[in-house]
This record gives sequence, structure tokens and C-alpha cells, in this order.
Amino acid sequence: MTEPLLIRSAQWDYPVTFHSTISDGITFVGDTSEVLVVVDANVLDLHEQALKPLTGAFPTLAVDPTEEAKSLAGVTTLVQWLIDQRAVRSATIIAIGGGCIQDLVSFTSHIYYRGINWVFLPTTVLSQSDSCIGAKSGINVLPFKNQLGALHSPKAVHICQEFLQTLPDVEVASGYGEIVKLSVTSSRHFLGLMERALADGGLRNAHLLELTRASLFAKQEIIEEDEYESDLRRVLNFGHSFGHALEGLSGHEVPHGLAVLWGIDVINSLGVMWGITPAPLRNRLHDLIATYFDYSLPVSPTADELVDGVSRDKKVAHGRMHFAVLRAEGDIIIEPRELNSDLSSQLTEVLEGDLVFTRP
Ligand code: NAD
Repeated sequence: MTEPLLIRSAQWDYPVTFHSTISDGITFVGDTSEVLVVVDANVLDLHEQALKPLTGAFPTLAVDPTEEAKSLAGVTTLVQWLIDQRAVRSATIIAIGGGCIQDLVSFTSHIYYRGINWVFLPTTVLSQSDSCIGAKSGINVLPFKNQLGALHSPKAVHICQEFLQTLPDVEVASGYGEIVKLSVTSSRHFLGLMERALADGGLRNAHLLELTRASLFAKQEIIEEDEYESDLRRVLNFGHSFGHALEGLSGHEVPHGLAVLWGIDVINSLGVMWGITPAPLRNRLHDLIATYFDYSLPVSPTADELVDGVSRDKKVAHGRMHFAVLRAEGDIIIEPRELNSDLSSQLTEVLEGDLVFTRP
């Protein structure tokens, strides 16, 4: 059995437990009348039988997991449903789904009666290996993504690997974006563990639960030191600056995690130019991404477009972006750089070089 984690948080500590099957994961709920279930509609369709002990016993709301669902309008719909169900201050919402359902339920739980409890059963690689801890939520004020947010820890997280059997391949690949990132943010053994796991079965390898725990452990080390995002937590943005810019420039067609993988390759290539990232480490990650992630970018952004995209990032201060740059395995530094024509020229060189993913 995979050893549970206990996450220390300013609000309360919460356990993360690991299960192979859904039925094992849902035995925790117990006999209480104050439970409500909010579930991703696709997950409910695909796992109806396994989820019956919950959905058959408690009021259940199935939500289409779109970016519209995690908007203020979506929050209003959920609040209305909670009121209709006479949900009280001591109620607990069980959220079942990926990051989209997590954001909706976490944010709504934070504001309903100034805070009710929620428990999370993440169902995607991204939510199991990264977003389920850290307490963050992001709600869209369309068209602005994740414009509003709150920090509201769950009471518990139960990871059931069985959910991933039905997750589409592109979602599995995208979920790895954060695993690859976390593999170099802390433990020096994690990158090697991931390389061996991928070599032994590709993305859906038999060690995925072990990788999931290793990712959460790596993130735990960071968020327990710095829950509220000062310098330390910024290392979690590794790969995200150019990744976010690419996502925006593609109209969000490039899945988040794949954009992060591309962003890792770009910042590592710049890091080599800046004399920070060792070339062999850049090449090691480049080869890993090129080998296991087969993706064709729908757009081919220019350096100027990317720099412009990065300039909209909330980590920009006084015309400088604070880039997370890899200095060694397990060692990421925060490097402030002017967003100017020098950066554009360096980036042009990187874009003309050898980057992962084919371009149009
Ligand atoms: P998601 O929740 O958007 O779901 C993606 C798709 O996969 C949906 O169609 C969903 O129905 C489907 N799906 C989910 N689980 C499935 C399963 N087991 N089988 C089959 N289909 C399944 O995916 P995500 O990548 O987990 O989340 C992305 C969202 O999370 C974004 O809105 C992002 O902003 C947010 N996010 C939040 C945090 C945070 O810390 N709060 C961190 C990262 C991302």
C-alpha cells in the first residue's frame, strides 16, 4: 500500500491517501446525513456503478466541467443548489473530478456560510499529482481565467488510480507537465525515478501511483514552507512563463501541461544561454519530453509575441519577469530579467533551434 501524506496547512492539516480502486477510496465517507456530492458529469457517466455508494446515498449535482462552469455564474448555480438542498454550515461537499471541479467546489466551499468543508477525489493526472494539494482555487470572470481565487484546504484528499483508466490519452500526457516540473524542483532522485518509470511502460506505466506520490511529496516540501507564494513557491512556476504565453497565443488550444512541457524546453534553452542551466541537464529533459510526448503545436509564435505574452504575467514587476530557471537537478533559482529586445533576440535563437513538438 502506498504510504499516505499529511499536508500541513495554515487552515488545518489534511491527509492524502492512495487507493487502487474507487470502492476503496470512497469507504471513508461514513454514515452522515450532511454530505453532498458534486461530480464531473463525464466521470459520473463513466464510473456510475463504482460511485453508486455515494451518489445513491447523498444529494448529487453533476456538473459539465467547462471553463464556464468554474466562473462566477457557475458558482452562483452551485450556491443555488446548496440552498435548495438546505446545506448547512456543518455540511461537507465531496468533489469528484479534475482541476475544474476542484476550483468550483473549493472556491464555493470557501464562501458558502463563510466556509464549509470539502473533500476531494481527484480524477485526472493533473489533479492527482499536483493541484489537489496547495489549497488554491481559481474562478474565471470570463474571459479572464482564474481571476478570482481563495485559499481553502480540503479536509482530505483520496486518490483512486482506477479513475485514470478512462482518462483520454491527451489528458494523461498533459497531466505529466506538472510531474516533469516537480521532478526537478526538489528531490534529486525523482527525475531518475520518472525516467525509469516511463522507460518501463510509457505514460500509463505501472509506477504512476508512485510518481503521483513523489510529485505531491515534492510539492508538499515547497508549499509547507511557503503556502502564500513568495519566492520559494515561485519555483512552481518553472516552465509556466512561456507555457502560459503559448496557451494564450493558441487560444487555449494547447493543453496546459503540454504547454508547460514546451515552456520547460524553452526556459532550459535560455538558461543554458544565460550560463545557469547545465547543457547536459537541458538535453536530458529535452530528450525525455521528445521521446514520450508526441504533439504538434497548432501555432508557431514569434519571440516578440511570446515576450508580449509573458509581459501580461502577474509575476512581472517593473518591466522585469521573475523566471524560474533550473540551475541543477533539484535546484531552481528565480532570475529577474528585463522584457526587452535582448530577450527577444535570445528567444529568436532558441525558437530557431531544436525544441520539442513539431510546429506548423
Ligand atoms: P479538467 O477538470 O478540466 O477535465 C478535463 C477533461 O477530462 C474533462 O472533459 C473531464 O470531464 C475529463 N475527465 C476528468 N476525469 C476523467 C476521468 N477519470 N475519465 C475520463 N474523463 C475525465 O482537467 P484538469 O486538467 O484536471 O483541470 C484543468 C483545470 O484545473 C483548469 O481549469 C485549471 O485552471 C485548473 N487548475 C487548478 C489548479 C489549482 O491549484 N486549483 C492547478 C492547476 C490547474
